[in-house]
Amino acid sequence: MNYHRYYPLDVVNGPGTRCTLFVSGCEHHCRGCYNQSTWRPDSGYPFTPDLEDQIITDLNDSRIPRQGLSLSGGDPLYPANISTILRLVSRINAECPGKDIWLWSGYRFQWLTNEQRKIVARINVLIDGKFIDSQKDLTLKWRGSRNQRIWYLR
Ligand code: SF4
Repeated sequence: MNYHRYYPLDVVNGPGTRCTLFVSGCEHHCRGCYNQSTWRPDSGYPFTPDLEDQIITDLNDSRIPRQGLSLSGGDPLYPANISTILRLVSRINAECPGKDIWLWSGYRFQWLTNEQRKIVARINVLIDGKFIDSQKDLTLKWRGSRNQRIWYLR
């Protein structure tokens, strides 16, 4: 898996103070997408074990408490990203008690594959659905268009 940006401190993408990772790879190609540079899975930089460790360290940093991790992109549920994202969210569940995981994906919740569902079983909140320009609504919180839904899973 490649990624485009990692923000160890972020107050924009999700509630509270968070870490945020924007991954590479997205097959939805929504018209009006703000992150077209992330579509190609080989764009950006390799996601390394060192960065995975750094995210865990940042989430557990008691000097600047983080509420959790936001996963966006690109699409964290893009098929080629699944094994890496599954390992990351599993580590956060095990090693970062009390931290939540929010994940933005263009896939609809009800159409997720079994492999994608393994990730969703380990996160707290899923925002699903493609960005639809004709349903764009700047007043929505955490969403870009009205068709997208927020699933508070646990
Ligand atoms: S799902 Fe997100 S990243 Fe992918 S094309 Fe749509 S808006 Fe862009």
